[in-house]
Amino acid sequence: MIERVLAPNPSLYTGPGTNTYLMRSNGEVLVLDPGPVIDAHMAAIVDAIGTDTPAGVVVTHTHPDHAPLANPLADVLGVPTYGYADGPAFIADVRITDGETVGFGISEITSVHTPGHTPDHLCFMWGDVLFTGDHIMQGSTVIIEDASDYLQSLYRVADLGAARIEPGHGNAIDDAGGAITEYIEHRLAREQQIVAAIRDGASTVGDVVDAVYTEVPAGLRAAATHQVRVQLSKLFRDAAVWFDASQSDETAPVRLR
Ligand SMILES: [Zn+2]
Repeated sequence: MIERVLAPNPSLYTGPGTNTYLMRSNGEVLVLDPGPVIDAHMAAIVDAIGTDTPAGVVVTHTHPDHAPLANPLADVLGVPTYGYADGPAFIADVRITDGETVGFGISEITSVHTPGHTPDHLCFMWGDVLFTGDHIMQGSTVIIEDASDYLQSLYRVADLGAARIEPGHGNAIDDAGGAITEYIEHRLAREQQIVAAIRDGASTVGDVVDAVYTEVPAGLRAAATHQVRVQLSKLFRDAAVWFDASQSDETAPVRLR
């Protein structure tokens, strides 16, 4: 049984807030992505666990909206934390990489290393359900650190054959395969838009942002600029574009190769 406890941290980046998941098997409970340190959220998670026995606290990655409550919660519950690596506000008692299992009751989840959003990102399969953290969200696209890794990680989860996605933000996605295909197509389309924008005369990072992110609210301009730079870095490595990454502002020049 899967239960979702929504953290009270809604924002531009977190949508309605972070989804904390409880998975139950045979009287034991696993907690996934406890979220930020908020006392009321800790109390809500403990309340939801009820009389079942906690088995562990797992994080998909160490971003501040997913992991900081993990160690305090694990201390209260008397269980270990599981994650790919330590982070700014997270210590992994048990480090897990790709293809490892975390058991609870008579069941287990299996990790899938999915770098791209962050280098330390894990998704988890439980039966035919894929917990995607910030690799795939419902209701928005994802901010990424490495476009090549991210695309490869999308292909990776496409091959898992999951039926449903339980994302880190937003509602469950019933057509997992369709959603992953859309994400892949969105990324490839974005690359083509960037190349087209440069072909059509964009000569700086800022020009590309103007051409590609036409409907971005002012508060997300910096994030959009960062995303264009991440995509340009991939296109540079793919030898499609020349990009002076040493210049860190929007005036950094770009051109086709
Ligand atoms: Zn994140």
